[in-house]
Amino acid sequence: MEENTNKIICPDCGTEIVRPEGMEIGDILECSNCGTEVEVMSIDPLKYRELIEEK
Ligand SMILES: [Zn+2]
Repeated sequence: MEENTNKIICPDCGTEIVRPEGMEIGDILECSNCGTEVEVMSIDPLKYRELIEEK
């Protein structure tokens, strides 16, 4: 059973991040709840990773 394969879930707070139309590999999406940035690694299958920036 596959779940949430088309959803991007914030790795930090678990909020779903809405996929923008025309999303492409390498796009950076921002969680609307906590501001964590996620980089799109692959569209199909959907893969992404948390983008960690040093301050
Ligand atoms: Zn978040």
